[in-house]
Amino acid sequence: SSKNRVVARKLSLPETEKTGNRVTVFVRVRPISKKEKEAGSRCCVRIVNPRDVYLTEFVNTNDYLRLKRIRGRHFTFDACFPDSATQQEVYSTSTSELVEGVLQGRNGTVFCYGATGAGKTYTMLGTVESPGVMVLAIKDLFRKIKTRSCDGNHAVHLSYLEVYNETVRDLISPGRSLVLREDKQVMTLLQQGNRNRTTEPTRANETSSRSHAVLQVVVEYQVRDAAMNIINSVGKLSLVDLAGSERALATDQRTLRSLEGANINRSLLALSCCINALVDGKKHIPYRNSKLTQLLKDSLGGTCSTVMIANISPSNLSSGETQNTLHWADRAKEIRTKANDANEDLFPVTETGTDQAKLVLELQKENR
Ligand code: ADP
Ligand code: MG
Repeated sequence: SSKNRVVARKLSLPETEKTGNRVTVFVRVRPISKKEKEAGSRCCVRIVNPRDVYLTEFVNTNDYLRLKRIRGRHFTFDACFPDSATQQEVYSTSTSELVEGVLQGRNGTVFCYGATGAGKTYTMLGTVESPGVMVLAIKDLFRKIKTRSCDGNHAVHLSYLEVYNETVRDLISPGRSLVLREDKQVMTLLQQGNRNRTTEPTRANETSSRSHAVLQVVVEYQVRDAAMNIINSVGKLSLVDLAGSERALATDQRTLRSLEGANINRSLLALSCCINALVDGKKHIPYRNSKLTQLLKDSLGGTCSTVMIANISPSNLSSGETQNTLHWADRAKEIRTKANDANEDLFPVTETGTDQAKLVLELQKENR
């Protein structure tokens, strides 16, 4: 309702937080679905101001359908997007700064995290009528390149990969990196890619809830340094639609280890491990533990700007998942790595488009 409309706007951070690399964390509540309404669900999520979300837990009383509110908790994030937030608002607040950074030769990563059905794919890919972050980012990137005087020198490489069962699959251009000339066909390409994500109809739901979709855009261009030498600058944007988080609830290392070997999404666990290691300021970040973290090794921590969008349903039927998602997101806020702490060994320089394609082939070979 427009009456209670809260517009999320990122607060400007103190300078130290800007240069020290902090993960920016947003939460997006999707509209309640028809199915949830029909099941008689209540709304248990309230955005109280542009940064705070309040989660109420309900319990069933004997008087069936009469739900009793028991307690609640506030969570604070960089911004909270209500169900009325537009795709453009979500893009502008969460990702447009990273696109700017990529054009300055920096790396940026945006993750959507949350349970299956919480709105990750809607946020990342969106629909033809309401394109999501992936499409808006590429459109914005091309718009920005066009307004630069030296636009002839830019090369934009695109890859859209799926990590499923520790197998890396190229969703749009198997075996090579795609050089993108303009932004017009992006939605079609990505939709086609997403259809490739779910080729087995009987397991469609299973597949999409267990696979990660990773869009990486590498922008290479030439600039002149102070001595007028031409140098190559490379920036990489990674946009990640993560697998459903319902099976990876662990937030500490011990629990993570005990879950290994169980039927748990290895890449999602490995991502949690890397995030934990970064939060704890560890020297060694275990990027090699999964395909997803290998793909993101130069896109997490170090000088990379990282954004997390936690997607949640407003329904009390999902309050357990919502609580887990908010807890995880709350922890992600704590990651801080100083830009000048970046270690070349731990955080190698960005691959060019060709190196990127090589890495993908290498990761694919490991499964043969
Ligand atoms: P996930 O990828 O997390 O499993 P989806 O993005 O597929 O979830 O969302 C589940 C359903 O909810 C889809 O039908 C989607 O179109 C709808 N949906 C999600 N977020 C929104 C939103 N912000 N506005 C309108 N519909 C949404
Ligand atoms: Mg999805």
